[in-house]
Amino acid sequence: MSLNGRKTEECALDKGKTAWYNILMKIYYDAAMLEAIKENEGKKLLLHSCCAPCSSYCLTQLLSLHTTVFYYNPNLDCEAEYEKRKSEQIRLLKETGLADFLDCDYSPEEYLSAVKGLENEKEGGARCTVCFSLRLERTAKEAKERGYDLFGTTLTVSPHKDADRINAIGYSLQEKWGVTYLPSDFKKRDGYLTSIRLSKQYGLYRQNYCGCAFSKREEEPEP
Ligand code: SF4
Repeated sequence: MSLNGRKTEECALDKGKTAWYNILMKIYYDAAMLEAIKENEGKKLLLHSCCAPCSSYCLTQLLSLHTTVFYYNPNLDCEAEYEKRKSEQIRLLKETGLADFLDCDYSPEEYLSAVKGLENEKEGGARCTVCFSLRLERTAKEAKERGYDLFGTTLTVSPHKDADRINAIGYSLQEKWGVTYLPSDFKKRDGYLTSIRLSKQYGLYRQNYCGCAFSKREEEPEP
């Protein structure tokens, strides 16, 4: 076999290893979450939530913790959308009693200055990494200042969002702020499908774009 042939084979092996690593890490995040929930029973969790539909399933997994939903989403493209998602979040919590609620003012300037220069990135690219970091960092900071034991996010329930990236950010913020991060991959064990079913059951508003003006533009059909 030629040198080039061997290189191709090695490359294929590397790809195989990477694929296995990714599968294992995804199982790991879900297993690590279950373990952390068991270890921290009764403790206080500050859970960042992007919207009621995503939180619906996540909250069913966190029943043995004392959870507060933290609604910090400066990425949303306008105040009307922000208020609509927020009121649905509050309604879900009132109807289910699954968690307390901690609000934030709408502050789009925080998001827009953080993603400056990344406006034309595709959804899932570098702009999203900054967006995840912004929302998770504020959650970790509030958790620290308000005396929570853990912080986490509902973002991993979406099949469009990279759980590896979100968890890596969460772990680095754990180091920075000294609050335990709750790892997750909520889409596992049919989490995403269950969130759709629960959203129908509670009649929740389910938006058809991620949240920022740039993601809305991607969803709009070409003229
Ligand atoms: S597409 Fe979604 S995650 Fe990415 S920057 Fe926009 S709002 Fe944030």
